[in-house]
Amino acid sequence: MTDLGALRHLAAEITALEQAGLLRKPSAPPPAGCLVLCSNDYLGYGTDPWPAPVEAPSGAGASRLVSGHHAEHALAEQTIATWLGFEAALLFSSGYAANVGTLSALARPGDVIVSDALNHASIIDGCRLSGAKVVVVPHRDVAAAEAALEQAQGAPRRWLVTESYFSMDGDSPDLVRLRAACDRWDAALIVDEAHAVGSLGPEGRGLAARAGVRPDVLVGALGKALGLQGAFVAGPMVLRTWLWNRARSFVFSTGISPALAAAIRHRVLRVAADDEARARLDRVTSRLRADLTSVVGDALLPSHGPILPCFVGPPEEAIRISLRLRERGILVQAIRPPTVPPGTSRLRVTAHARLTDADLSRVVAAFAESWKP
Ligand code: PMP
Repeated sequence: MTDLGALRHLAAEITALEQAGLLRKPSAPPPAGCLVLCSNDYLGYGTDPWPAPVEAPSGAGASRLVSGHHAEHALAEQTIATWLGFEAALLFSSGYAANVGTLSALARPGDVIVSDALNHASIIDGCRLSGAKVVVVPHRDVAAAEAALEQAQGAPRRWLVTESYFSMDGDSPDLVRLRAACDRWDAALIVDEAHAVGSLGPEGRGLAARAGVRPDVLVGALGKALGLQGAFVAGPMVLRTWLWNRARSFVFSTGISPALAAAIRHRVLRVAADDEARARLDRVTSRLRADLTSVVGDALLPSHGPILPCFVGPPEEAIRISLRLRERGILVQAIRPPTVPPGTSRLRVTAHARLTDADLSRVVAAFAESWKP
Protein backbone atom coordinates (compact mmCIF):
# COMPACT_ATOMS: atom_id res chain seq x y z
CA MET A 1 0.00 0.00 0.00
CA THR A 2 1.16 3.55 -0.69
CA ASP A 3 2.71 5.31 2.28
CA LEU A 4 0.33 8.23 2.69
CA GLY A 5 2.60 10.13 5.06
CA ALA A 6 0.99 13.37 6.19
CA LEU A 7 -2.16 12.55 4.21
CA ARG A 8 -2.87 9.35 6.20
CA HIS A 9 -5.86 10.86 8.06
CA LEU A 10 -7.72 11.11 4.74
CA ALA A 11 -8.11 7.35 4.37
CA ALA A 12 -10.14 7.03 7.58
CA GLU A 13 -12.25 10.09 6.77
CA ILE A 14 -13.04 8.73 3.32
CA THR A 15 -14.12 5.42 4.87
CA ALA A 16 -16.44 7.33 7.23
CA LEU A 17 -17.98 9.21 4.28
CA GLU A 18 -18.50 5.95 2.45
CA GLN A 19 -20.21 4.38 5.47
CA ALA A 20 -22.58 7.37 5.69
CA GLY A 21 -23.54 7.05 2.01
CA LEU A 22 -21.87 10.39 1.32
CA LEU A 23 -18.76 9.46 -0.65
CA ARG A 24 -18.70 11.05 -4.08
CA LYS A 25 -16.63 10.45 -7.18
CA PRO A 26 -16.92 11.35 -10.85
CA SER A 27 -19.39 8.90 -12.30
CA ALA A 28 -18.43 6.55 -15.11
CA PRO A 29 -19.59 7.76 -18.50
CA PRO A 30 -23.11 6.48 -19.18
CA PRO A 31 -23.20 3.43 -21.44
CA ALA A 32 -24.32 3.95 -25.05
CA GLY A 33 -28.09 4.26 -25.27
CA CYS A 34 -28.41 5.46 -21.68
CA LEU A 35 -30.70 8.50 -21.38
CA VAL A 36 -29.13 11.30 -19.31
CA LEU A 37 -31.74 13.10 -17.23
CA CYS A 38 -29.51 14.92 -14.78
CA SER A 39 -27.40 17.31 -16.84
CA ASN A 40 -27.96 21.06 -17.15
CA ASP A 41 -27.76 20.86 -20.93
CA TYR A 42 -31.42 21.84 -21.16
CA LEU A 43 -31.50 22.51 -24.88
CA GLY A 44 -29.19 19.63 -25.82
CA TYR A 45 -26.61 21.96 -27.38
CA GLY A 46 -23.83 20.37 -25.35
CA THR A 47 -23.83 17.28 -27.55
CA ASP A 48 -23.47 19.31 -30.76
CA PRO A 49 -20.07 19.84 -32.43
CA TRP A 50 -17.97 22.87 -31.69
CA PRO A 51 -20.07 25.80 -32.92
CA ALA A 52 -17.48 28.12 -34.43
CA PRO A 53 -14.62 27.93 -36.90
CA VAL A 54 -11.58 27.38 -34.72
CA GLU A 55 -9.46 30.09 -36.30
CA ALA A 56 -9.18 31.89 -33.00
CA PRO A 57 -6.16 30.91 -30.88
CA SER A 58 -6.67 27.97 -28.54
CA GLY A 59 -5.16 29.67 -25.51
CA ALA A 60 -5.09 33.20 -24.10
CA GLY A 61 -1.68 32.59 -22.58
CA ALA A 62 -2.10 34.98 -19.67
CA SER A 63 -4.60 37.04 -17.73
CA ARG A 64 -6.70 39.36 -19.87
CA LEU A 65 -4.97 42.20 -18.02
CA VAL A 66 -1.51 41.06 -19.14
CA SER A 67 -1.34 39.68 -22.70
CA GLY A 68 -4.42 37.42 -22.71
CA HIS A 69 -7.02 39.80 -24.09
CA HIS A 70 -8.20 38.86 -27.59
CA ALA A 71 -10.71 40.51 -29.94
CA GLU A 72 -12.93 37.42 -29.56
CA HIS A 73 -13.36 38.12 -25.84
CA ALA A 74 -14.63 41.61 -26.51
CA LEU A 75 -16.92 40.40 -29.31
CA ALA A 76 -18.44 37.66 -27.15
CA GLU A 77 -18.94 40.07 -24.27
CA GLN A 78 -20.60 42.65 -26.49
CA THR A 79 -22.89 39.96 -27.94
CA ILE A 80 -23.94 38.85 -24.45
CA ALA A 81 -24.52 42.42 -23.27
CA THR A 82 -26.64 43.23 -26.33
CA TRP A 83 -28.66 40.01 -25.95
CA LEU A 84 -29.50 40.77 -22.35
CA GLY A 85 -29.86 44.52 -22.69
CA PHE A 86 -27.00 45.50 -20.39
CA GLU A 87 -24.20 47.97 -21.04
CA ALA A 88 -21.44 45.47 -20.49
CA ALA A 89 -20.60 41.86 -19.77
CA LEU A 90 -17.44 40.17 -18.54
CA LEU A 91 -16.45 36.55 -19.16
CA PHE A 92 -15.22 34.31 -16.37
CA SER A 93 -13.80 30.81 -16.61
CA SER A 94 -16.77 29.33 -14.71
CA GLY A 95 -19.91 30.31 -12.85
CA TYR A 96 -18.09 29.40 -9.68
CA ALA A 97 -15.32 31.90 -10.48
CA ALA A 98 -17.89 34.52 -11.52
CA ASN A 99 -19.81 34.38 -8.26
CA VAL A 100 -16.80 34.18 -5.99
CA GLY A 101 -14.99 36.96 -7.85
CA THR A 102 -17.98 39.27 -8.18
CA LEU A 103 -19.36 39.03 -4.66
CA SER A 104 -15.95 39.38 -3.07
CA ALA A 105 -15.16 42.37 -5.30
CA LEU A 106 -18.41 44.19 -4.60
CA ALA A 107 -19.23 43.63 -0.94
CA ARG A 108 -16.80 44.77 1.71
CA PRO A 109 -16.41 44.44 5.48
CA GLY A 110 -19.16 46.48 7.13
CA ASP A 111 -21.59 45.87 4.26
CA VAL A 112 -24.52 43.51 4.64
CA ILE A 113 -25.34 40.77 2.11
CA VAL A 114 -28.80 39.24 2.33
CA SER A 115 -28.58 35.74 0.88
CA ASP A 116 -31.23 33.06 0.23
CA ALA A 117 -30.72 29.93 2.33
CA LEU A 118 -30.53 27.74 -0.78
CA ASN A 119 -28.10 29.85 -2.78
CA HIS A 120 -25.38 27.94 -4.63
CA ALA A 121 -22.05 27.12 -2.95
CA SER A 122 -20.23 29.65 -5.18
CA ILE A 123 -22.50 32.43 -3.87
CA ILE A 124 -21.94 31.29 -0.30
CA ASP A 125 -18.17 31.25 -0.82
CA GLY A 126 -18.19 34.67 -2.49
CA CYS A 127 -20.19 36.12 0.39
CA ARG A 128 -17.79 34.66 2.94
CA LEU A 129 -14.73 35.85 1.08
CA SER A 130 -16.07 39.41 0.87
CA GLY A 131 -15.78 39.89 4.63
CA ALA A 132 -19.25 41.48 4.68
CA LYS A 133 -21.87 40.49 7.24
CA VAL A 134 -24.01 37.79 5.65
CA VAL A 135 -27.66 37.49 6.67
CA VAL A 136 -29.06 34.19 5.42
CA VAL A 137 -32.82 34.39 5.02
CA PRO A 138 -35.26 31.48 4.60
CA HIS A 139 -35.70 30.24 1.05
CA ARG A 140 -37.78 32.65 -1.09
CA ASP A 141 -38.89 34.62 1.97
CA VAL A 142 -39.30 38.17 0.66
CA ALA A 143 -40.55 39.55 3.99
CA ALA A 144 -37.47 38.21 5.79
CA ALA A 145 -35.21 39.63 3.07
CA GLU A 146 -36.87 43.03 3.32
CA ALA A 147 -36.62 43.02 7.13
CA ALA A 148 -32.90 42.18 6.87
CA LEU A 149 -32.35 45.07 4.43
CA GLU A 150 -34.23 47.45 6.72
CA GLN A 151 -32.11 46.33 9.66
CA ALA A 152 -28.98 47.01 7.63
CA GLN A 153 -29.73 50.70 7.06
CA GLY A 154 -26.66 51.68 9.08
CA ALA A 155 -24.29 49.65 6.89
CA PRO A 156 -22.28 51.41 4.16
CA ARG A 157 -23.94 49.24 1.48
CA ARG A 158 -26.56 46.53 1.20
CA TRP A 159 -26.62 43.64 -1.29
CA LEU A 160 -29.29 41.08 -1.95
CA VAL A 161 -28.22 37.92 -3.77
CA THR A 162 -30.46 35.17 -5.09
CA GLU A 163 -30.69 32.60 -7.83
CA SER A 164 -33.54 33.17 -10.28
CA TYR A 165 -34.09 29.43 -10.82
CA PHE A 166 -32.79 27.34 -7.94
CA SER A 167 -30.57 24.57 -9.18
CA MET A 168 -31.61 21.78 -6.82
CA ASP A 169 -35.25 22.80 -6.25
CA GLY A 170 -36.44 24.12 -9.60
CA ASP A 171 -38.28 27.00 -7.96
CA SER A 172 -37.91 30.77 -8.16
CA PRO A 173 -38.07 33.84 -5.94
CA ASP A 174 -40.50 36.69 -6.51
CA LEU A 175 -38.06 38.95 -8.33
CA VAL A 176 -40.58 41.79 -8.65
CA ARG A 177 -40.95 42.04 -4.87
CA LEU A 178 -37.24 41.57 -4.26
CA ARG A 179 -36.49 44.40 -6.71
CA ALA A 180 -38.99 46.63 -4.88
CA ALA A 181 -37.44 45.75 -1.51
CA CYS A 182 -33.97 46.59 -2.83
CA ASP A 183 -35.19 49.91 -4.22
CA ARG A 184 -36.90 50.78 -0.96
CA TRP A 185 -33.83 50.08 1.16
CA ASP A 186 -31.20 51.22 -1.34
CA ALA A 187 -29.70 47.80 -1.92
CA ALA A 188 -28.17 46.27 -5.05
CA LEU A 189 -29.87 43.17 -6.47
CA ILE A 190 -27.54 40.42 -7.68
CA VAL A 191 -29.28 37.62 -9.56
CA ASP A 192 -27.61 34.35 -10.51
CA GLU A 193 -29.43 33.12 -13.62
CA ALA A 194 -27.10 30.16 -14.19
CA HIS A 195 -29.96 27.73 -14.86
CA ALA A 196 -32.28 30.21 -16.58
CA VAL A 197 -30.27 31.94 -19.29
CA GLY A 198 -30.76 30.18 -22.58
CA SER A 199 -33.59 27.96 -21.39
CA LEU A 200 -36.17 30.32 -19.89
CA GLY A 201 -37.62 33.74 -20.57
CA PRO A 202 -38.06 35.77 -23.76
CA GLU A 203 -35.24 34.97 -26.22
CA GLY A 204 -33.78 32.82 -23.45
CA ARG A 205 -32.89 35.95 -21.51
CA GLY A 206 -33.83 34.37 -18.19
CA LEU A 207 -36.37 34.90 -15.46
CA ALA A 208 -35.57 38.48 -14.52
CA ALA A 209 -36.35 39.37 -18.13
CA ARG A 210 -39.53 37.30 -17.96
CA ALA A 211 -40.58 39.18 -14.81
CA GLY A 212 -39.64 42.55 -16.30
CA VAL A 213 -37.08 43.05 -13.53
CA ARG A 214 -33.66 44.56 -14.02
CA PRO A 215 -31.02 43.25 -11.63
CA ASP A 216 -28.05 45.48 -10.87
CA VAL A 217 -25.80 42.49 -11.51
CA LEU A 218 -26.75 39.40 -13.52
CA VAL A 219 -24.62 36.26 -13.46
CA GLY A 220 -25.13 33.74 -16.25
CA ALA A 221 -23.54 30.39 -16.98
CA LEU A 222 -22.34 29.16 -20.37
CA GLY A 223 -21.88 25.50 -19.43
CA LYS A 224 -25.55 24.76 -18.91
CA ALA A 225 -28.22 25.67 -21.52
CA LEU A 226 -25.55 27.13 -23.82
CA GLY A 227 -23.72 23.82 -23.76
CA LEU A 228 -20.18 25.22 -23.58
CA GLN A 229 -18.16 26.34 -20.57
CA GLY A 230 -17.54 29.51 -18.62
CA ALA A 231 -19.82 32.24 -17.35
CA PHE A 232 -20.43 35.96 -17.51
CA VAL A 233 -21.41 38.86 -15.33
CA ALA A 234 -23.58 41.56 -16.93
CA GLY A 235 -24.35 45.06 -15.70
CA PRO A 236 -23.32 48.68 -16.24
CA MET A 237 -19.87 49.71 -17.50
CA VAL A 238 -18.78 50.71 -14.00
CA LEU A 239 -19.42 47.15 -12.83
CA ARG A 240 -17.17 45.77 -15.54
CA THR A 241 -14.43 48.30 -14.79
CA TRP A 242 -14.64 47.45 -11.10
CA LEU A 243 -14.45 43.72 -11.79
CA TRP A 244 -11.43 44.23 -14.08
CA ASN A 245 -9.74 45.74 -11.07
CA ARG A 246 -11.07 43.83 -8.10
CA ALA A 247 -12.48 40.43 -9.09
CA ARG A 248 -9.54 38.26 -8.13
CA SER A 249 -10.84 35.23 -10.07
CA PHE A 250 -10.67 37.44 -13.19
CA VAL A 251 -7.51 39.45 -12.46
CA PHE A 252 -5.33 36.54 -11.37
CA SER A 253 -6.59 33.91 -13.79
CA THR A 254 -5.74 33.13 -17.41
CA GLY A 255 -8.25 34.59 -19.86
CA ILE A 256 -10.65 32.01 -21.27
CA SER A 257 -9.62 30.43 -24.53
CA PRO A 258 -10.24 32.84 -27.46
CA ALA A 259 -11.59 29.85 -29.43
CA LEU A 260 -14.09 29.30 -26.62
CA ALA A 261 -15.01 33.00 -26.71
CA ALA A 262 -15.72 32.67 -30.46
CA ALA A 263 -17.88 29.61 -29.77
CA ILE A 264 -19.71 31.51 -27.04
CA ARG A 265 -20.56 34.33 -29.45
CA HIS A 266 -22.01 31.85 -31.97
CA ARG A 267 -23.97 30.03 -29.28
CA VAL A 268 -25.45 33.23 -27.83
CA LEU A 269 -26.71 34.27 -31.25
CA ARG A 270 -28.15 30.80 -31.76
CA VAL A 271 -29.80 30.52 -28.37
CA ALA A 272 -31.37 33.97 -28.62
CA ALA A 273 -33.10 32.92 -31.85
CA ASP A 274 -34.00 29.35 -30.87
CA ASP A 275 -37.56 29.72 -29.59
CA GLU A 276 -38.25 26.38 -31.20
CA ALA A 277 -35.86 24.56 -28.87
CA ARG A 278 -37.37 26.34 -25.86
CA ALA A 279 -40.87 25.35 -27.03
CA ARG A 280 -39.69 21.73 -27.34
CA LEU A 281 -38.20 21.93 -23.86
CA ASP A 282 -41.55 23.20 -22.53
CA ARG A 283 -43.41 20.31 -24.13
CA VAL A 284 -40.94 17.71 -22.82
CA THR A 285 -41.06 19.30 -19.38
CA SER A 286 -44.86 19.27 -19.19
CA ARG A 287 -45.07 15.63 -20.11
CA LEU A 288 -42.22 14.60 -17.81
CA ARG A 289 -43.75 16.52 -14.89
CA ALA A 290 -47.11 14.78 -15.42
CA ASP A 291 -45.47 11.35 -15.84
CA LEU A 292 -43.27 11.68 -12.76
CA THR A 293 -46.19 12.94 -10.67
CA SER A 294 -48.13 9.82 -11.63
CA VAL A 295 -45.30 7.68 -10.21
CA VAL A 296 -43.81 9.63 -7.29
CA GLY A 297 -46.80 11.83 -6.31
CA ASP A 298 -45.98 14.49 -3.73
CA ALA A 299 -42.30 13.51 -3.70
CA LEU A 300 -41.97 15.68 -6.80
CA LEU A 301 -41.29 18.99 -5.10
CA PRO A 302 -43.28 22.06 -6.18
CA SER A 303 -41.23 23.37 -9.09
CA HIS A 304 -41.48 24.77 -12.57
CA GLY A 305 -39.34 24.46 -15.68
CA PRO A 306 -36.93 21.67 -16.57
CA ILE A 307 -35.64 20.92 -13.04
CA LEU A 308 -37.85 18.25 -11.41
CA PRO A 309 -36.60 17.31 -7.94
CA CYS A 310 -37.96 14.04 -6.55
CA PHE A 311 -37.52 14.04 -2.78
CA VAL A 312 -36.15 10.92 -1.14
CA GLY A 313 -34.57 11.86 2.22
CA PRO A 314 -31.82 9.40 3.22
CA PRO A 315 -28.77 9.41 0.94
CA GLU A 316 -28.49 5.61 0.77
CA GLU A 317 -32.06 5.33 -0.51
CA ALA A 318 -31.44 8.00 -3.15
CA ILE A 319 -28.40 6.02 -4.31
CA ARG A 320 -30.40 2.79 -4.48
CA ILE A 321 -33.09 4.36 -6.67
CA SER A 322 -30.44 5.97 -8.87
CA LEU A 323 -28.73 2.58 -9.35
CA ARG A 324 -32.01 0.88 -10.24
CA LEU A 325 -32.69 3.59 -12.83
CA ARG A 326 -29.21 3.17 -14.23
CA GLU A 327 -29.75 -0.57 -14.64
CA ARG A 328 -32.73 0.41 -16.78
CA GLY A 329 -30.71 2.81 -18.94
CA ILE A 330 -31.69 6.06 -17.22
CA LEU A 331 -29.01 8.26 -15.65
CA VAL A 332 -30.32 10.37 -12.76
CA GLN A 333 -27.70 10.92 -10.08
CA ALA A 334 -28.59 11.00 -6.41
CA ILE A 335 -28.09 14.50 -5.04
CA ARG A 336 -26.84 14.33 -1.47
CA PRO A 337 -25.40 16.63 1.20
CA PRO A 338 -23.50 18.90 1.06
CA THR A 339 -25.13 19.81 -2.27
CA VAL A 340 -28.51 19.80 -0.50
CA PRO A 341 -29.28 20.14 3.24
CA PRO A 342 -28.95 16.99 5.41
CA GLY A 343 -31.99 14.72 5.24
CA THR A 344 -33.10 16.07 1.85
CA SER A 345 -31.30 13.78 -0.60
CA ARG A 346 -33.17 13.61 -3.85
CA LEU A 347 -33.17 12.60 -7.46
CA ARG A 348 -32.89 15.77 -9.44
CA VAL A 349 -34.45 14.92 -12.77
CA THR A 350 -33.84 17.39 -15.56
CA ALA A 351 -35.65 17.61 -18.87
CA HIS A 352 -33.90 18.46 -22.10
CA ALA A 353 -35.34 19.51 -25.41
CA ARG A 354 -34.18 16.46 -27.37
CA LEU A 355 -36.03 13.79 -25.40
CA THR A 356 -38.52 12.06 -27.67
CA ASP A 357 -41.91 10.65 -26.73
CA ALA A 358 -40.38 7.17 -26.84
CA ASP A 359 -37.59 8.33 -24.48
CA LEU A 360 -40.15 9.73 -22.06
CA SER A 361 -42.08 6.48 -22.08
CA ARG A 362 -38.86 4.66 -21.16
CA VAL A 363 -38.23 7.12 -18.35
CA VAL A 364 -41.64 6.76 -16.74
CA ALA A 365 -41.51 2.95 -17.03
CA ALA A 366 -38.08 2.90 -15.37
CA PHE A 367 -39.29 5.19 -12.59
CA ALA A 368 -42.33 3.01 -11.98
CA GLU A 369 -40.02 0.01 -11.45
CA SER A 370 -37.33 1.86 -9.49
CA TRP A 371 -39.17 4.21 -7.16
CA LYS A 372 -39.33 2.65 -3.67
CA PRO A 373 -40.75 -0.70 -4.81
N1 PMP B 1 -24.48 29.22 -9.91
C1 PMP B 1 -25.40 28.24 -9.85
C2 PMP B 1 -26.78 28.59 -9.38
C3 PMP B 1 -25.07 26.93 -10.20
O1 PMP B 1 -25.98 25.95 -10.12
C4 PMP B 1 -23.77 26.64 -10.65
C5 PMP B 1 -23.32 25.27 -11.12
N2 PMP B 1 -23.99 24.20 -10.72
C6 PMP B 1 -22.84 27.69 -10.69
C7 PMP B 1 -23.23 28.95 -10.33
C8 PMP B 1 -21.44 27.43 -11.11
O2 PMP B 1 -21.35 27.43 -12.49
P1 PMP B 1 -20.14 26.64 -13.21
O3 PMP B 1 -20.60 25.22 -13.30
O4 PMP B 1 -20.01 27.31 -14.52
O5 PMP B 1 -18.94 26.80 -12.33
